Amino acid sequence: MHHDLPAKAARLDQRDPLLSFRERFVLPEGKTYLNGNSLGAMPRQAARIARKCVEHEWAQKLIDSWNTADWLHLPQRLGNKLAQLAGAQSGEIVVTDTTGINLHKALAAALSLRPGRTTILMERDNFPHNNYIAEGIVAQSSQQHRLLFLERHELEHHINEDTAVICLTHVHYKTGRLLDMERLTALAHQKGALAVWDVCHSVGVMPLELNRCRVDFAVGCTYKFLNGGPGSPAFVFAAHRHHAQMRQPLTGWWSHSSPFAFTAHYEAAPGIGQMLTGTQPVISMVTLEPGLDIALEADKERVWQKSQQLRTLFLEALNETCVPLGVTPVTGEGLFASQLALHHKHAWPVCNALAGQGIIADFRAPDILRFGLSPLYNRYADIIKATTALRAILATECWQEKRYWEKRPVT
Ligand SMILES: *Cc1c(COP(=O)(O)O)cnc(C)c1O
Repeated sequence: MHHDLPAKAARLDQRDPLLSFRERFVLPEGKTYLNGNSLGAMPRQAARIARKCVEHEWAQKLIDSWNTADWLHLPQRLGNKLAQLAGAQSGEIVVTDTTGINLHKALAAALSLRPGRTTILMERDNFPHNNYIAEGIVAQSSQQHRLLFLERHELEHHINEDTAVICLTHVHYKTGRLLDMERLTALAHQKGALAVWDVCHSVGVMPLELNRCRVDFAVGCTYKFLNGGPGSPAFVFAAHRHHAQMRQPLTGWWSHSSPFAFTAHYEAAPGIGQMLTGTQPVISMVTLEPGLDIALEADKERVWQKSQQLRTLFLEALNETCVPLGVTPVTGEGLFASQLALHHKHAWPVCNALAGQGIIADFRAPDILRFGLSPLYNRYADIIKATTALRAILATECWQEKRYWEKRPVT
C-alpha cells in the first residue's frame, strides 16, 4: 500500500473527536470488528446493568420491580430517548417487539387510515423480511389490498391515487445506498398516500429527521448501530397526527387504555402506547439502554461525518490495493450509508478467510462482501488493517482453501 494511507489513517485517528467513545465498548482482542451493521458491539455498561436487573430487580425485588424499577414504562421511556435520535417527539415512539412485528402493526395502521385505496408500493430488492411481512398482511386483508414490487428507479412513477402506502427501507441492506426519505414521502403525500419507513440501517449512525420529513410511520431495530444487544427489542414510530384514528391489529392488554382494569372488551390506549401488544422482554429492554445513551451523547453530525470519512478512506485504500485483484466496490450515484459493499465472485470464502485473520465482515448472497462502519468504535486504522488483510487474501488466493468454504447457517 502507498505509505500515505496508513499515515493518513493515523492522523485521522489522532484528530478524531469521537475516539474516546471506543473505550465505552468491549472489543475483543485481536479482532477488527466491521460488522456493527449486523450486531453492534457491547457497551461496557450493558453488562453492569444486565447484572443489576437480573440479580437485584429480578432476584430480590421480583414482582415489585414492575413498579419500583418502572419496568412498566420501559417501552415509552426508551422510546422517548429514541425519539431524540430519530427526529421525533416524545410520545411518538415505543420500543417493543421486533422490527418485523412492528412493521406488521405500522403497515396495517397506515392502511387503516386509507380505506378504499388498495396498493402498497415496495421495492422488489428490499430486505426480503419486510416484503414477507407485507405479503402476510395482504393475505389476511379483507379489502383486496395488493402489493406492487418495483425497481428502485420506478418507485416515484407509480405513486398514484390508488396508492394507500409506500413502504420503503431507508438504506439498502446490501449496497448501503440511501433512498430520499423526504422526497419520496412528499410524493406519497401529494397523491394522498402515507409513508412507512424502515430505518434499521440508518438509526444511530446518521441524523434522522422523521418529523421534518413528515414520515407517517417508521420502524427500526436497536441491535445494529445502536448497540442494544442480540435480538434487543425494536421500535415503532407513529406521527402524533395519526394517533386518534389509526388502528393496529395486534391488540392486547399492553395496548389497552387501562390494562389492569381487565374490562371485557378492547379499547385502544390514546397515545403511542396503542402500538404495544403484550409483556416486554425486560432484561433485553434494560440492556439496550446504554447503547442509546452513548448514541445520545455523541454529536450526530460528527458521527455521520466520520462514517462518510471512514467510507472514503476505505474506498481509496481498496482502489489502490484490492480493486486490481478482482473486487468491485458498490459505488456510483446517490448517498451511501455507513457500510461498504464489495462484489467478489467468491465473497463467502473470502469473508471467511478475512475472519481467519481477525477481520470480521459479513456475506450477503450471492456475491457481496459487506463491511459495516461504526463511527463510535471503529478507527481509521481498522480500515487499513482490513484492506491490508484483504489484499493479501486476494493476492495469495488463500480463500481457495477448503476450510473457508464450509457452510454456516448465519452468514
Ligand atoms: C436488520 C433488519 C431488520 C430486522 O428485522 P427483525 O424483525 O428485527 O429481525 C428488518 N429490516 C431491515 C431492513 C433490516 O436491515
